[in-house]
Amino acid sequence: MSGKDDYYNRSKQQGYRARSAYKLKQLDEEADLLAPGDTVVDLGAAPGGWLQVAAEAVGEGGTVVGVDLQRIEELDDHEVETIRGDMTEERTRHYLREAVGAGGADAVLSDMAPNMTGEYSLDHARSVHLARQALDTADELLAPGGDFVVKVFQGQDLDPFRDDVSESFQYVRTVSPPASRDSSSEVYLVAKGYTTSP
Ligand code: SAM
Repeated sequence: MSGKDDYYNRSKQQGYRARSAYKLKQLDEEADLLAPGDTVVDLGAAPGGWLQVAAEAVGEGGTVVGVDLQRIEELDDHEVETIRGDMTEERTRHYLREAVGAGGADAVLSDMAPNMTGEYSLDHARSVHLARQALDTADELLAPGGDFVVKVFQGQDLDPFRDDVSESFQYVRTVSPPASRDSSSEVYLVAKGYTTSP
């Protein structure tokens, strides 16, 4: 059994809904994203592995809001608000703004992924489209100094997208967490320190 399959077994043993929970744990360890009391937005949150990790990290004094096209079953151990909707639609973004409130978010996370067609360039383009929706959402919701994490499939539009992200943050790094499968073309852009000044 490979080390990667271990993440699936660990997620079952440790009560996480998805092995992807370990990707967020690794991103958080590397980039220090989540802190007690934070307000965290999780885009593409079903079935809820990242929601569990985020809720554990922010604790009772924090707020976690998750959005997905799919219904997200309530978490047993944590209070998390979930919205069922499409992040490409203004209606969903409206509900999300209401849920986050005037204080804004400390972190906007996106693990959104398109339905895969198997056609590399199409899947890449659709992934970048979702990532741009996430960046727009981060622009709407992040408080100054906030952080943004977004999954993108590698391809020709990744560098221009990364350049656009870097315009609004102190720095951006491209991270491949060990829990990502070897066969996956996904990377995560980790952008720290949201700033509205040029
Ligand atoms: N991070 C999640 C976890 O730990 O459980 C796994 C997320 S899964 C890889 C990607 C999710 O993105 C899917 O549940 C999918 O429904 C969602 N998604 C894709 N396009 C979306 C959109 N336009 N709006 C909202 N969610 C979307």
